Amino acid sequence: MIRISSQFDSGAIEVLDCSDVSNIRLNLPSDNAAAFRQWFHFRLQGARGQACSISFENAGQSAYPAGWDGYRVVASYDRRSWFRLSAGQYDGERYTFRITPEFDSVYFAYFEPYSWERHLELLGEADAAPVATVSDLGATPDGRDLNLITVGRPAPGRRNVWITARQHPGETMAEFYVEGLLRRLYDTSDPVSRRLLERACFHVVPNMNPDGSVRGNLRTNAVGTNLNRAWREPDMQGSPEVALVRAKMEATGVDMFLDIHGDETLPFVFIDGNGMVPGFTDAHREQERRFTDALLAASPDFQMAEGYAPDRFTDELLTLASKWVYHRFGCLALTLEMPFKDNANLPDGLFGWSSARSQRLGAATLQALLAALDDRAAN
Ligand code: ZN
Repeated sequence: MIRISSQFDSGAIEVLDCSDVSNIRLNLPSDNAAAFRQWFHFRLQGARGQACSISFENAGQSAYPAGWDGYRVVASYDRRSWFRLSAGQYDGERYTFRITPEFDSVYFAYFEPYSWERHLELLGEADAAPVATVSDLGATPDGRDLNLITVGRPAPGRRNVWITARQHPGETMAEFYVEGLLRRLYDTSDPVSRRLLERACFHVVPNMNPDGSVRGNLRTNAVGTNLNRAWREPDMQGSPEVALVRAKMEATGVDMFLDIHGDETLPFVFIDGNGMVPGFTDAHREQERRFTDALLAASPDFQMAEGYAPDRFTDELLTLASKWVYHRFGCLALTLEMPFKDNANLPDGLFGWSSARSQRLGAATLQALLAALDDRAAN
């Protein structure tokens, strides 16, 4: 007997028909209060040893249809090790993939899930680290805690570095990235981390969208707001997550900001800077260059050739976190994107882009932040 279920943390799927393993028909569900759809996470039981063909019938109506071209589903038997299946077929409407499960249960997800339990463990790890503290910024619409991890201490002359992740809850790679960055920052035998904490205090929001994460949303919070379009005018009804973080930023000041994301379509790691924001200066361009040069040296997973077109966000520019922060604080402020697919310049046949690579990239980014801080100190 075949069964498909998704009643668990970040679970998301709609079953149309699973009576025939050779033609399992599913729909991608939309976010709970908005029309975006692309994230999925579900469990298939009872198909061990049977050749299964599984289709997302409405893939063509997802938020990023081009995301299905060449995409490989992430799967796990034990929920610890997640691996990639062979690329499915996308015909512009349906996305179909195949698997012959080796065990009675197999889980599938758009990307390796990052659970709320793991998030709480990350906060516990921070509390236990001598250099870090955890504080509460307020409550989300569903009543979950929005937490801030502070690493190092504010002091005169010490810069304030802000990092936010998972405004878009389906982009779980963003929280894995933060995990890797934080663990290196806690390491008191790491010279890069020691130097950084001499010069800067870190303010890190590892999950900007707790409700959307648990609900299995792709892009929005519990009341349907795309938080990364709410930075110009956040409010406590529709976007309390942004309002609370913005208020804290105003209290600490911001000297450097990274907003961490995943991109459904482009198979590359890239950044989106502020060259298109009015008032962008040569000094800021130079500081962005210091950062990107250092990240290129620190991680071959990073590249500068591919990314968003400069005019991609023209109309909504200052509603985006990194653009709003640049405009408000006049500091280095970047959106960093990792792929849902793989890094086409350095592909991994078994795992594609993965939690482990996201963590490594987060750790490597500290080198680039140090280079960018050094640059400003030299001016
Ligand atoms: Zn995003």
